[in-house]
Amino acid sequence: MNIKEIEQCIKSMTKETRFNHSKGVQKTAGELAKHYGLDVEKAELAGLMHDCVKNLTVEEMLKLCDELGCELDFVTRKEYKLIHAPLGAYYSRKIFGIDDEEIFNSIYWHTTAKANMTLFEKIIYVADVIEPNRNYDIVDELRKLAYEDIDVALLKILNYTINKQLAAGKMLHSETINARNYLIAKGVNV
Ligand code: FE
Ligand code: FE
Repeated sequence: MNIKEIEQCIKSMTKETRFNHSKGVQKTAGELAKHYGLDVEKAELAGLMHDCVKNLTVEEMLKLCDELGCELDFVTRKEYKLIHAPLGAYYSRKIFGIDDEEIFNSIYWHTTAKANMTLFEKIIYVADVIEPNRNYDIVDELRKLAYEDIDVALLKILNYTINKQLAAGKMLHSETINARNYLIAKGVNV
């Protein structure tokens, strides 16, 4: 599919607020890609598609995972809000026909993050939480940091997310911990 067809598809699959969020991530991912010298169109496409399956029911998502060959680990299956990330990667590749490793991985890891992310993966991860429709206490600080030092922004987001998960009594995905440990070991500090 071309980008216009993909956009129409996503529009029909998502609620209005989710669609607006996707358009926001598309825009912000493009801006970050431009700033860091990466492929703008590719980042925009990944941003547009990242949440494509988010408004499906858990049953629909699990069924699609089976159909598309998307295997889920124990934590992702239990913390069902995580499912849309790996499934969105498979959906983008197999249904939208976007066969690009960087796009696939950036969508796959956009919720948990992981150790040793590529710059492209970081851009999608960060764009997701700073796009213009987002509104929470540290968002303006993150919007600034994202352009100054994306690793610092990333570590701040991981800390924020881990705290939120703990406060809500939820499980933590091991890759989220790995992502944080990796950055700290590399000397990033916030
Ligand atoms: Fe998401
Ligand atoms: Fe998102």
